[in-house]
Amino acid sequence: ATPTAIMVGTGLGAQRGVLFKNATALEGTAKIDTVVMDKTGTLTKGEPEVTDVIASGMGEEEMLALVAAVERESEHPLARAIDSHAAQRGVPVLAVSEFLNVPGHGATAVVDGRRVLVGNLRLMTRENVDVGDLAERRDELAASGRTAVLAAVDGRAVGVIALADAARATAAAAVAALHESGIEVVMLTGDNEATARRIAEQLGIDTVIAEVLPGDKAEKVAELQQAGNTVAMVGDGVNDAPALAKADIGIAIGAGTDVAIETADIVLMRSDPLDVSVALRIGKGTVRKER
Ligand code: ADP
Ligand code: MG
Repeated sequence: ATPTAIMVGTGLGAQRGVLFKNATALEGTAKIDTVVMDKTGTLTKGEPEVTDVIASGMGEEEMLALVAAVERESEHPLARAIDSHAAQRGVPVLAVSEFLNVPGHGATAVVDGRRVLVGNLRLMTRENVDVGDLAERRDELAASGRTAVLAAVDGRAVGVIALADAARATAAAAVAALHESGIEVVMLTGDNEATARRIAEQLGIDTVIAEVLPGDKAEKVAELQQAGNTVAMVGDGVNDAPALAKADIGIAIGAGTDVAIETADIVLMRSDPLDVSVALRIGKGTVRKER
């Protein structure tokens, strides 16, 4: 594109809070045919809240106290939500040692001499915990779009904690706008398949890639590129950064982590997913003017 077209496009973007880092970012958007969106923090607010606490074989308070002791040590958004829920309910604060974060799975620690696991089904399987009757509760909660976190103590499943993360107000409209421009929309998430599918359904997204480990998001983007797609990746998290770099165009949510913002080609300062289509439209307009 001509320097003038670039200047106009960059200026138009700036007015809408769409920050193009360079000319390549602006021109590159014109070729995008597939938009991959991270779920948590991009399509949703990224502020999960505890909705259900189900204990098995011990009291609810005791289960919550053991889980919260582990989660107090973790920076994961799910951990933060469980911790503040426990604090609100005034459950006792227990001493914790040997905390271990297991990326994409959950966390483990020793609490009051007992080994506590908190995380997804993958963590339980890995640690040979039979989820038993709680599997059904977990499936029900996941089918309703909630994220179900499992808890085990000394190898025995003791509870499920469900969390809901509300979609951003404009998430469905953002998907619709992209579809109207003939762009394919894909949801990419570390969360479980059933939860992700339910939320995708609510937002009008038909392609879901779920249960992706933090290190594997970039590989999923590469697979879409190998299949012939020109991909924009939209994300907010530390674990989205490699995928943002791998994509033809990386788009960061302004409220996201520094790493995501630094890696991206475009930053959406208003953290509004609708601005993805605004960015693509400005890019197309810029390239068209040049001809
Ligand atoms: P995302 O934030 O997109 O869900 P992550 O890779 O961070 O992706 O986590 C994937 C899954 O691992 C979570 O949905 C959750 O089930 C589980 N998990 C990870 N960390 C924790 C934690 N500290 N407590 C409970 N569950 C966790
Ligand atoms: Mg995210």
